[in-house]
Amino acid sequence: MAVALVVAAGRGERLGSDRPKAFVIVAGRPMLDWCVDALREVPAIDQIVVALPAGEQAPAGCIGVPGGEVRAASVAAALAASAGDPVLIHDAARPLVRRELVERVLGGIDGVDGAIAATRVTDTTKQADADGIVTRTLERSSLWAVQTPQVFHRAALEQALDVSPDVLAQATDESWLVERAGGRIRIVESSPENLKVTTPRDLRISSELLLERTTRLQSTGQPAVGRLGERC
Ligand code: C5P
Repeated sequence: MAVALVVAAGRGERLGSDRPKAFVIVAGRPMLDWCVDALREVPAIDQIVVALPAGEQAPAGCIGVPGGEVRAASVAAALAASAGDPVLIHDAARPLVRRELVERVLGGIDGVDGAIAATRVTDTTKQADADGIVTRTLERSSLWAVQTPQVFHRAALEQALDVSPDVLAQATDESWLVERAGGRIRIVESSPENLKVTTPRDLRISSELLLERTTRLQSTGQPAVGRLGERC
């Protein structure tokens, strides 16, 4: 069975809130609760481990562990407290994730070391030097903007995380660590709706989208949230 690790230990300074980002209220609930609901709906996931900032509690039924100084250290702490294979990693900062995407990324792991959610890049993308002078225009058709969830075979992830603290500090996602250890990663196409909340504007957009989703579900008679507290 799969295990899900949710990284929620970041401070989220760019959001300008008085509390850690994962605990900021979005559409009436802490940001963390939205993605935990989506993960709970996935039958293949039988454990959820959350890397937490100091002083915060994991949602009911989930295992909470103290997060690390950098993102990859939070992942390593959650991985050490978990059992299960494959391992799915999700940012608490992406509250709009849906069960359907989680299941497609889990399904993408066959024959590769990892599978990652990503969207096609639609803007023309350039590299520039420190003075802001363009050095290169990248070939857009081969570019993807990477999100979470990301899923890895446990052995591949453990090997990838077994590197120096300097390398861990550079990692902005776990796929990069698995790639540099020689792993093969499959892209699973996602939607831009699975946005990462970084700025107050992202918070406004995600609140509106979640409220809209909740209203739509209520009008069809379905429960507004997943099986909260039922299974982790
Ligand atoms: O800072 P950023 O938005 O890129 O963080 C992505 C995710 O990693 C967030 O959900 C954040 O809570 C988590 N994180 C963590 N431990 C850290 C830094 C970030 O769990 N030390």
